[in-house]
Amino acid sequence: MDCIFCKIVAGEIPSKKVHEDELVYAFHDIHPMAPAHILVVPKKHVPSLAHVVAADEGVLGRLLATTARIAEEQGLSQGYRVVISTGPQGGQTVDHLHLHLLGGRQMHWPPG
Ligand code: AMP
Ligand code: ZN
Repeated sequence: MDCIFCKIVAGEIPSKKVHEDELVYAFHDIHPMAPAHILVVPKKHVPSLAHVVAADEGVLGRLLATTARIAEEQGLSQGYRVVISTGPQGGQTVDHLHLHLLGGRQMHWPPG
């Protein structure tokens, strides 16, 4: 499958790995938008949040819990933001579900 994040999970494209377990892989975003910018992805190819089915609910919970643990490990004790771009109007550019973990600076609302 021609999916850049599947290739990162498989080690076919290099990444700066932050965490890996049997369900989840996390790595530094190549174009960081904050001092800490980490992507947390399911190892299973799920195209977007809009494609999630009931069988994926376990991995969704794992993704969120793992993101919180990574934030703690990264020292983001002042807070952080988790973003899931979904579909064209959501600004999604890679069609493999991913959580952006952003921190290390003040976040603002509304986002762009
Ligand atoms: P989105 O635009 O929300 O779909 O997020 C996709 C993210 O993937 C962007 O923040 C990109 O900078 C990031 N990205 C794309 N290719 C790579 C890569 N090879 N390694 C790390 N991050 C990447
Ligand atoms: Zn994929």
